[in-house]
Amino acid sequence: MRRIKIFDTTLRDGEQAAGGALTLEEKIDIAQQLERLGVDCIEAGFPATSPGDFRAVETVCELVKNAQVAALSDAKLANIETTGAALKKAVAPRLHTVLSTSDIHLNYQLRITRQQCLEMAVAAVKLGRSLIGEVEFSAMDAARSDWDFLCRVFEATIGAGATVINIPDTLGYMQPHEFAEMVKYVMDNVPNIDKAAVSVHCHNDLGMATALSLAAVNVGAEWVECTVNGVGERAGNAALEEIVMALTTRPDHFKCTTGIKTDQIWRTSRMVSSYMGFPVQPNKAVVGSNAFSHASGLHQDGMLKERSTYEIMTPESIGRSDSRLVISKHSGRNAFRDRLVKLGYRLDEDEFMRAFRAFKDIADRKKEVTDGDIEAVVADQVLTVEEHYKIESLQVMCGEPALPTATVRVISPDGESRQDAAIGDGPVDAVCKAIDRIVGIPNKLSDFNVSSVSSGIDALGEVSIRVESEEGTFIGRGISTYIVVASGRAYLNALNKVVAARKERETGGDKLNTGKQGAASNDTRAEKDEKRAATPKKVAKRQPVMA
Ligand code: MN
Repeated sequence: MRRIKIFDTTLRDGEQAAGGALTLEEKIDIAQQLERLGVDCIEAGFPATSPGDFRAVETVCELVKNAQVAALSDAKLANIETTGAALKKAVAPRLHTVLSTSDIHLNYQLRITRQQCLEMAVAAVKLGRSLIGEVEFSAMDAARSDWDFLCRVFEATIGAGATVINIPDTLGYMQPHEFAEMVKYVMDNVPNIDKAAVSVHCHNDLGMATALSLAAVNVGAEWVECTVNGVGERAGNAALEEIVMALTTRPDHFKCTTGIKTDQIWRTSRMVSSYMGFPVQPNKAVVGSNAFSHASGLHQDGMLKERSTYEIMTPESIGRSDSRLVISKHSGRNAFRDRLVKLGYRLDEDEFMRAFRAFKDIADRKKEVTDGDIEAVVADQVLTVEEHYKIESLQVMCGEPALPTATVRVISPDGESRQDAAIGDGPVDAVCKAIDRIVGIPNKLSDFNVSSVSSGIDALGEVSIRVESEEGTFIGRGISTYIVVASGRAYLNALNKVVAARKERETGGDKLNTGKQGAASNDTRAEKDEKRAATPKKVAKRQPVMA
């Protein structure tokens, strides 16, 4: 059995998704969960794009002990220096540098010749190797590159010290058999290929990302780059859970194993979905809510007689169970603590008490508290940003016909309690408008999503709200058995993130850079901001730079 290595890029390519925005605390939490999941390498960010990304990579490097930590850089030498600095504290760092090799990109985007491309790639890898022992070179848009030129670039970069070469289908353009041929061609035609590991990185524009990655595994690729839930640029990346479960379910075909603890998949998926504010479609392979639901009578009949008739993998194998909590509102701290430990949480005393109080609050209103409820409570209580503003009380009146009206009382950072009321297009709109009147942070609400954490009429509702502000895009989350209350909490949670970001900027978050030149060049920062769908005001300010 070959061991396939999983390179997770949820925190880099995944976070690049339109509207994907994670706070430092959320990135740390996801990185630690990825470590528990057992991925071989965590790509933590693109440090040269912004001081925030730099600090995120640095922090992940300090905390992660059992996986490699990678950081991405383009081939600009100053940015490679910055990336090397960000990776300094990692137990097992990997510097990942990328340069396009397709004629389309060379001619129209980079405006350089193939020879220049070759020289830049070699210089980038050489510098990278002088800083970090493990260097990965990615040939961006490899899939649309000339195969022989691609081989020459790989040969030269391996010669310059690359320890991993990555063959990406950056645009999800290929068909599986074609991609397999290409990977095989590279493996057969790069003379020094034995000195580097082969990695693939596929996108899902035509729904092929998993198929492409597995086709490459079949012809010998050792590393697969992927993201949890397949999040990422445009249609996303290859989904980690699909690749891992394909390899796990069909060892007879692939003859491969991975180091993934599959029973952590469900929890990781929930966490990434919730933090990024991207719901998982119900019919999504492996992690969709319906992925293990049998609706047809014929199928149900088979399932009752023998599960293997209609089940190729079990929900338990990905850590999904509908187990009900044996503790209720009458239960004490120890029972709750016990359950948390079983679910894999290690909270400090303060976090524990906050989670416990929230649990009691929910148990009061809900007969059965599920593991899913507990996970939502912990995410809500433990990972929220500092509550600069806090909802003290919230009242809504609505009906048909009636003017939806909300009265909200909010505790401000100065401890003062203020209240206001507003009417809106609906109850949630009214709540947000009332909060706006008190808090006064200009923003645009760009996405609103409600999902239920568990089933039943008394289910806990989880609301995620995406707001765009001058400071960037932020996702707020709130849970409650009352949707309107959850919405108010989610909205204020997002605004608290805006306040935190503003504070960090004012207190000189930029100082956190290691002082390397080019660490936060205006260009790359502007590009990153652009991706974050900044407010019109910001775009206008930035236009001259982009031109
Ligand atoms: Mn990508």
